[in-house]
Order: sequence, then C-alpha cells, then structure tokens
Amino acid sequence: MSQENRRGLLIILSSPSGAGKSTLARRLRDWDKDIAFSVSATTRAPRPGEVDGREYLFTDEARFKSMVANGDMLEHAHVFGNFYGSPRGPVQEAIEQGRDVLFDIDWQGAQQINNSALGMHTLSIFLLPPSIPELRNRLEKRGQDDAQTIARRMEKSWDEISHWGGYDFVLVNDDLDATEEKLKTIITATRLRRSQQPQLTAHVRNLQTQFEDLS
Ligand code: ADP
Ligand code: 5GP
Repeated sequence: MSQENRRGLLIILSSPSGAGKSTLARRLRDWDKDIAFSVSATTRAPRPGEVDGREYLFTDEARFKSMVANGDMLEHAHVFGNFYGSPRGPVQEAIEQGRDVLFDIDWQGAQQINNSALGMHTLSIFLLPPSIPELRNRLEKRGQDDAQTIARRMEKSWDEISHWGGYDFVLVNDDLDATEEKLKTIITATRLRRSQQPQLTAHVRNLQTQFEDLS
C-alpha cells in the first residue's frame, strides 16, 4: 500500500492480558508489512522465546527512569509491578514517513497518547474477551505463565476492562478471524479520516483552480 502523502496513524490495542492483543497485532503486521510495531521498553525479565529488541527492549530501572526524565518516552506506566514505556523516537520517525505504528499498551498508556499532541492521529481499540472463564482458559492455553502469574493477571483484568469506555472502538474477540477482519475494516476506514490526509488541501485547491478556469 502506498504510504505517500498519508499521515501515519497511531493504532493502540489494549485488553486484559490473554484477550488476544499480541495475536491480533501479529496478524495485522502480516496483513500490512508497512505497519511499524512500537517496541516498548520494560523492566520486566524476558520470557522464554522473547528476544531483546523484538518483543521488548529489556532494560533496568535506572535506564528506564533516565529515558523518562529525558522526555524520551511517549508514554509510560507501572503495570504488574514493572515499568513499561513507548520510546518516542521510532514512533516519530515512522509517522513522519507516513507509516502507521501499532501499540500493544495498557489503558494508562492509551490515555497519555490520546491526551498528547499526537492524540488527533490516534486510533484506539479495546478487545474484550467473550467471557471470564474463556479469558482464564486462554491464559492457561498460552502456557507462558505459572499459576501464580495467571492468578495475578486475572485479578488485574477487571481493572483493565473497566477502562473500555475510553476507546474509539471496542471488539469482543470471540472468533479470531472475524475480529481480525473487523480490525482491518476499522484501520482502513480511519486511514481515510480527513486529519490523516493532509494532501487533500492541495487537491481541493487544485479543484478550485479548475473551477475558476471554467468561467
Ligand atoms: P494478549 O496479548 O492480549 O495477552 P494473546 O494474543 O497472547 O493475548 O492471546 C492469549 C491466547 O489466546 C493465545 O494462546 C492465543 O492464541 C489465544 N487466542 C487469542 N484470540 C483468540 C480467539 N479469538 N479464540 C481463541 N483463542 C484465542
Ligand atoms: P506483558 O508483561 O504481559 O508483556 O504486558 C503486560 C501489560 O503491559 C499488557 O497489558 C501490555 O499491553 C502492557 N504494556 C506493554 N508495553 C507497554 C507500554 O509501553 N506502555 C504501557 N502503558 N503499557 C504497556
């Protein structure tokens, strides 16, 4: 898809842990390879299979705090006892090139980006699970966490769900393929929002000139 002239969109996906954010984020990036993924910095330890710089930038607390102090984070939050934040530089670079950036962040980060200067170029989507037993089932099936971590994530899930009202779109992620299709529809439509198409001003001016030439 041509990115020329278009302004990059900040696409935020949030949900309680286990509802399907990472799975859907992966599918969206396979669908459109031009979508950049905002690799968050975190102070949590890597899980088996996670690669530094791919899923996260794994860092210590001192470095994280100095990035925040230097204004290098677009947003940041304390989640599940660890710090998480979205480095500003790569996001700025991508949107200036007309590329969309996908964020897998919690409600605190979504709120901060929405309230920032980039808020008008943001599309926020919240994913709800079809039910709480299914949410637990997905966390267990994923096989990444021990029973204690799963219990902690489940405890926190209501806190995350309670912020669903702050998002532009809310999808119940029941059937994965259907949710993926809905996400693509939402993104495709939002790319056509007037604020994402700065080139329209010149085009309309052109149309005006052509009109004037008629008379
Ligand atoms: P999150 O990133 O929100 O924590 P994941 O994307 O890791 O969640 O999904 C948790 C688990 O649920 C994964 O094993 C994933 O394959 C599975 N999953 C995601 N969406 C669905 C769905 N619609 N139906 C069934 N399983 C799903
Ligand atoms: P996990 O440790 O399971 O990868 O992520 C835990 C939670 O932190 C998830 O809800 C995820 O969306 C959120 N998260 C990940 N990166 C960021 C970030 O950069 N900023 C914020 N605010 N939340 C994040």
